[in-house]
Amino acid sequence: MNHASYFGGSPVQTAHRQQNTISREAGMSGIGMFGGADVNLRFLPAGPDFGIQFERTDLAGSPRIPALIEYAIERPRRTVLAAGGATVEVTEHVLAALAGLQIDNCLVQLDAPEPPAGDGSALPFAETLLEAGRTELDAPRLCLVVDQPFDLASAEGTQELAVRPLRKTSPAISYHLDYGKGSPVPSGNLTVEITPETFLREIAFARTFVCESEVTALQSRGYGLRMTPQNVLVFGQNGVIENELRCEDECTRHKLLDCIGDFALAGCDLQGHFSAWRTGHAMNREVIRMIRLKYGTGGGTAGRHVA
Ligand SMILES: [Zn+2]
Repeated sequence: MNHASYFGGSPVQTAHRQQNTISREAGMSGIGMFGGADVNLRFLPAGPDFGIQFERTDLAGSPRIPALIEYAIERPRRTVLAAGGATVEVTEHVLAALAGLQIDNCLVQLDAPEPPAGDGSALPFAETLLEAGRTELDAPRLCLVVDQPFDLASAEGTQELAVRPLRKTSPAISYHLDYGKGSPVPSGNLTVEITPETFLREIAFARTFVCESEVTALQSRGYGLRMTPQNVLVFGQNGVIENELRCEDECTRHKLLDCIGDFALAGCDLQGHFSAWRTGHAMNREVIRMIRLKYGTGGGTAGRHVA
């Protein structure tokens, strides 16, 4: 990837709101999308500056993995976190639900490598979190304010992410989906100012999707063996197979959902306009790495202190 633009200026960090956690424990069960394991997930309340941490209760010593960009490892088609020899697969939809609802501190216990797939959207996680309630904590939530424009582009020029200053406390994300004329996946273009209200109304319900041609390749590598066209959107040449879109631009909304989940790895709020053109998880993560470098918030929990 090319770091197409220049960095400079001083860190701009501010607090617009207090940190939140959940009011009580809540859980859900299901099967993992990639690995297919049965899994139980529990959300537990946590104190200020704990952040979001996953805990693998099925492994010796119940290792914890912080949901921060420095724990992300490069795997295709999803965002995987790793620490202390433990991994958590497909973190992006559960992280989108937490970030979308502004739950900043939470322990996420799992007894398998992957959260439940649910319906492929963030809605089952969001509903469980709403059931748990939200409690404000006596600590400010760090917000990084993007004060200079910068751009990222993939080496092939097929993906771009432009970041611009924005004079609003909520971040805005634009997603431009366009897989070209031959693709059965509908193109779309959507901008949403992300608040808990818009997240629930516009984004949370949008399900992940896959092309029929990719399914065989994934399943031959042992992935997605318990997925069916009923529990994941599969696009054939003529459109969705044995299922129906929840809205015309559901795929665009899901890609925006993925951005929210991946951007949550900043470990703080972001104030800026993120305009993503055909990006996937790798570029979403890359922009957060750049922001952490630029604004000097890398390393452990250092990013949570308010300057
Ligand atoms: Zn996704």
